[in-house]
Amino acid sequence: MFNTNTITRFQELETPFYYYDLDVLRRTLAACKEASSKYGFHVHYAMKANFNPKVLDMIQSFGFGADCVSGNEVKAAIEHGFGKENVVFAGVGKSDKEINLALDADIFCFNAESVQELFIINDLAKAKNKTAKIAIRINPNVDAHTHHYITTGLEENKFGINTFQLNDVAETLRKCANLQFLGIHFHIGSQITDMEVYKSLCLRINEIQDWFEDHGFAVKVLNTGGGLGVDYHHPDTNGVSEFENYFKVFHDFLKVKPGQEVHFELGRALVAQSASLISRVLYVKNGIKKNFLILDAGMTELIRPMLYQAFHLIQNLSRSEAKSQDLKYDVVGPICESTDCFQKDVDLPESFRGDLIAVRTAGAYGEVMASGYNLRDRVGSIYSE
Ligand SMILES: *Cc1c(COP(=O)(O)O)cnc(C)c1O
Repeated sequence: MFNTNTITRFQELETPFYYYDLDVLRRTLAACKEASSKYGFHVHYAMKANFNPKVLDMIQSFGFGADCVSGNEVKAAIEHGFGKENVVFAGVGKSDKEINLALDADIFCFNAESVQELFIINDLAKAKNKTAKIAIRINPNVDAHTHHYITTGLEENKFGINTFQLNDVAETLRKCANLQFLGIHFHIGSQITDMEVYKSLCLRINEIQDWFEDHGFAVKVLNTGGGLGVDYHHPDTNGVSEFENYFKVFHDFLKVKPGQEVHFELGRALVAQSASLISRVLYVKNGIKKNFLILDAGMTELIRPMLYQAFHLIQNLSRSEAKSQDLKYDVVGPICESTDCFQKDVDLPESFRGDLIAVRTAGAYGEVMASGYNLRDRVGSIYSE
């Protein structure tokens, strides 16, 4: 990701910023496209992972659809050329304004997350004399074996409709003349690397789609959600997610009926490896038991380590020639919060004020979660081309 020219270019620039390697992005998208097309699967990009305009344009150019979780994301998807027939709108708390916007845009499908939401979408669609296409987000109660902060498919989570409520759902769908049932939707969590989890999901989906068919509802779309993980420890040697294995699990275990479409909503796996957060060391502070590298970037630029205890590989780009990485530093940000720490006890070469530091695999849930806390400048972005 960083050759000498790139690092020389960084030296001229004000930090911090996100650096996007568009070649990495292109290769990742191509790998996903190839692996999914083999089985005729449709992939919608989960836009909340990264809505940087250049990133969106490139993803759109590969023919992926868009999975949106707000009205503004629906709007952005359409502005960036994602066809309305390829836009889905998910989210546990869609406001009336957002639902109306999506109805006006004639999107492909709403992923509805509660019985009450079904009634509201029906009322709003009726007022516009429209029919809203609906997939029901179901909570399959499958444990994603990922960090509990990013697990979404258990009955204790706020997302989706639990299976014991399915009779209510069926009754509601029969009552609501302005809803058209399309299919069922699942999303059980993020950063999932254990393929067994997806096998369990497939088996649950098979049971649940049978339930719908048995109750008189034709299931046209099976939307399995997203969640495929990336390798945060080895971004250079293992930079592309296991798309082949991932789609093969669904091919092998999902019972797909004639005419059914299988949809996926990948976010992280498509974009995470394409960006790094580039920052400079402001101060090196020697403590009694440990040394600190104080960076000019913190939780206002990349909050994942602080919010989810997430790991990101940290590299000193100015000392890449150094023979040993034999010092340990707590790498911290400048924000007035003790939690503003990227990682403790990082092995690094001896580091100095002004050194360029890369925080890797920051393309997903990075720039999009930047905040203005402490009235910081909004983090910028630069591109490899
Ligand atoms: C966030 C989200 C995704 C994408 O998750 P990743 O782990 O980034 O692949 C997919 N579907 C829904 C409904 C989501 O909320």
